[in-house]
Amino acid sequence: MEKYKMYIGGEWVDSVSGEMREVLYPSTQEALWEVPDGVEEDVDRAVEAALKAWEPWAMLRLTRRIHYLRAALELLEDKKEKMVEIMVKEGGHPISLARWFFEGALGRLRATIEAAPGFYGETIPSTTGRFSCTIKQPIGVVGAIVPWNAPLTQAINKIAPALVTGNTMVLKPSMETPISALELAKVFEAVELPKGVFNVVTGSGLVVGKRIVENPKVSKISFTGDTATGRDIAERAGRTLKKLTLELGGSDPLIVCEDANIDWATDAAVYGRFYHQGQICISSKRIILLERIAEEFKEKMLEKTRRLKIGDPMDPKTQIGPLINKQQTEKVHQQVKGSINMGAKLLCGGRYEKLVYEPTILGECTMEMPCCREECFGPVAPLITVPDFDTAIEIANDTIHGLSGGIFTQDLSKAMKAITRIQSGSIHVNECSLHIDPFAPFGGVKASGMGKELGGHYAFEEYTNTKWVTINIEQASYPFLLLGHRT
Ligand code: NAD
Repeated sequence: MEKYKMYIGGEWVDSVSGEMREVLYPSTQEALWEVPDGVEEDVDRAVEAALKAWEPWAMLRLTRRIHYLRAALELLEDKKEKMVEIMVKEGGHPISLARWFFEGALGRLRATIEAAPGFYGETIPSTTGRFSCTIKQPIGVVGAIVPWNAPLTQAINKIAPALVTGNTMVLKPSMETPISALELAKVFEAVELPKGVFNVVTGSGLVVGKRIVENPKVSKISFTGDTATGRDIAERAGRTLKKLTLELGGSDPLIVCEDANIDWATDAAVYGRFYHQGQICISSKRIILLERIAEEFKEKMLEKTRRLKIGDPMDPKTQIGPLINKQQTEKVHQQVKGSINMGAKLLCGGRYEKLVYEPTILGECTMEMPCCREECFGPVAPLITVPDFDTAIEIANDTIHGLSGGIFTQDLSKAMKAITRIQSGSIHVNECSLHIDPFAPFGGVKASGMGKELGGHYAFEEYTNTKWVTINIEQASYPFLLLGHRT
């Protein structure tokens, strides 16, 4: 079993607790690695290192900061096969998905590097003749906390904009998938990123995550994960008034109208719901069908779902691999059983072996059922049939979440109504909710979070403060001082 250390202040260190935790390969449940089980003191050490590194890093020319990120990008490209294998083994990703995630992560890093020189302040007209402008300043030490479902991509989403704008970082990966984050630290070490600019502390959310949020020297928290965790983080970060970006859970709708191309819509639904075994925040978790096409859609989706290949994640042809762990698998099964008990019709799937859950389609679903009411983080597609378009929109919005959404229609008026009325951070016409682009801003509304990632300046705003600056060109007069003068 390979042992890793944490990366703090440019050094590879054990936790002061001396404790280690195993990391399992979801496909076989074999322990492949051990990582330190960090404690509060480890976080505090990392924050001190990041704080010490902050001012010199912030004062460095942008071109130098870009140089380090570009060097890291090039090194990552060389490590592609190793990183892909780690993503398969720590997250259970089928290898084709791991390659997609890897390319996606690099694309995001590249897009951030290219956008960085275009992010700057403005000059502002002055009512008093002063020179007036804004400058963008880094915030300080960023605490980044990421989940297990796309560990490399989620980390890059935060690291790239935070570092390029002059912040330093303490990253906490999920204990399910800490290895890609530690390998990233090796990349930053190899490109000689100044010590302390990037730190990784491994450990549980309840100990390490909590301390990152509560440490008063951390100025910003960027969190991706479950909505309940996000709420807890927001409350505790509020006590020290930290700036927050929260990328939380989703229960995204996919509406299919009467005039939709059903062949295309079913392709999108199978991809949108079953890619990564449904463990993506923007998976299409509720499929809303207009009555007239519901039967045809159901038959086509069933046929395409039955063709999905379940198998060994290392096999390039595998489309469905294991879920992340036993708890998650059992939770998904409870949601399926609970929905069936409330009247949902099991059309396919509904079973699991070890951690592999069969792609499942449930017909005749309603919003009261757990598969629709809660976020279902597994390969389960609930079909909800509705009589008209307005009901489809009402159901799309009948959730605490608001991450992404999709609609299939040829009707411009319906498309425009969906674009304006669906309460979400993004919406895609003739596409499912599972769509992302590093040039475009990404984030949720309602209980799906606050703030944006990606999209160049949208992300940079999250990691900077805007400071207003004025310069007097001539000696100013202060009418107040003249008020009391006797003539
Ligand atoms: P999670 O909230 O359980 O854990 C996420 C991270 O937070 C982990 O590193 C965990 O250790 C840490 N953590 C847990 N409790 C904490 C606490 N009290 N204080 C500080 N840190 C804590 O989420 P998960 O199960 O790892 O990930 C799945 C969830 O993430 C799903 O809800 C999914 O929709 C969401 N997600 C959202 C996005 C997005 O961009 N909106 C992207 C990916 C995943």
